[in-house]
Amino acid sequence: MKVTDLPPPPSLQEYRTIVGDEKIAALEELTDRLSGVAFQEINSTRSGGGVAEILNSYIPFLTALGLKTTWSVMEAEPAFFEVTKTLHNFLQGKDGFSPSMIETYWETLRKNDGLIDEESDVVTVHDPQPLGLIEFLARDELMRKRLIWRCHVQLETLSVDSVSEIGRLIRKLVEQYHASIFSSFQYLPLWHVPSFIVPPFIDPLSEKNRDLSETEITATLEKYGVDPDRPLITQVSRYDIFKDPVGVIQAFKHVRERESCRKKGCQLLLVGGRACDDPECFLVLRNVRQAAEEHPDIHILDLPPDSPREINALQRASQIIVQKSIKEGFGLTVSEGLWKGKPVVAGDVGGIPLQVKDGWNGYLVSTVQETADRIIYLLKNPDLAETMGSRGREFVRENFLLTRGVLDHLTVADQLVN
Ligand code: UDP
Repeated sequence: MKVTDLPPPPSLQEYRTIVGDEKIAALEELTDRLSGVAFQEINSTRSGGGVAEILNSYIPFLTALGLKTTWSVMEAEPAFFEVTKTLHNFLQGKDGFSPSMIETYWETLRKNDGLIDEESDVVTVHDPQPLGLIEFLARDELMRKRLIWRCHVQLETLSVDSVSEIGRLIRKLVEQYHASIFSSFQYLPLWHVPSFIVPPFIDPLSEKNRDLSETEITATLEKYGVDPDRPLITQVSRYDIFKDPVGVIQAFKHVRERESCRKKGCQLLLVGGRACDDPECFLVLRNVRQAAEEHPDIHILDLPPDSPREINALQRASQIIVQKSIKEGFGLTVSEGLWKGKPVVAGDVGGIPLQVKDGWNGYLVSTVQETADRIIYLLKNPDLAETMGSRGREFVRENFLLTRGVLDHLTVADQLVN
């Protein structure tokens, strides 16, 4: 299915004011080298989660540059998403994938045969869900096009390289691609496919990240019953075990047990929603509610996918952003928090250490206790929290904005076609 309800192409001038002339000039130069090349992006959901977030800005930006780009989303039934969620968990190191699931996978893929456009020249296939589409391409098409597998998952090389049937299948499929892209070198598998490291990025002008008025921020807090006069600690994430929302609640409870912080009466906000390809989220959400035990200062939101401005406002209203993941391909929410000038306390896993430099713009943590300790320290030292936040914003400006991401992706494409 082609995505047709994209935001309009943005004005490059606005980006120029944020990242400077030089970066836009580099993009324009690369665009000239790629003029006439047709790009296609393929993934499994239109909204919810980081991939959809990225593509929603990436495609209009390429269009603004003058490149021909389309976005196609797979059509699939819930049974397929059960399988691919289990596969996703397996790739991140959790058991549960059974060989019988492979048949369900191929059934859906066969129904999506034809999703790769005849006219496209460079096709980027995101994550394991559509990975197998390459099997349906005729040989001459495979020779003419350039196909890239873009992995957003924190790949646990060991489990994938193991002797399991699914591990062998994934590897065999990826090795048919002309190139692969990973978010961090930390989990680069040693496979026979040219690999590039391209960390993801956020769009500073999207509804999720653009500046908002204080009035809108206050109104959003009021809407969700959050007290604007007490410190707010926030994690924004799909309800997924790898994001460890229950661990965040435990850490918050430790924070509240400490006398000095109890006086300040800080609040915890868990902002989540449902990605339509994530059948497990209901279960995780139930566990989260149980763990919160109706604590009056723990706010648990289950937002619809089209809530970027509200998420933006809630991140801006927070004193500290938490992302206590235990596996994380990259973690866009980390850059989103840093861009809003907030210190981020986040799991020392996957792509997070690329964004959080421990003790400089936030803290890297591995346990509930550490998370609580760092939150308490930041609450007690608001000046330090502010300094870390400003460093974080500049770090994101330099490294994790859309303009850098597009430049990197076009550089990979340029290496493949020119
Ligand atoms: N997000 C959202 N609504 C939610 C939860 C998350 O819009 O209820 C957004 C979040 O702001 C971020 C993206 O989804 O832009 C999540 O990307 P990330 O890389 O952090 O994690 P993923 O979900 O891809 O594992």
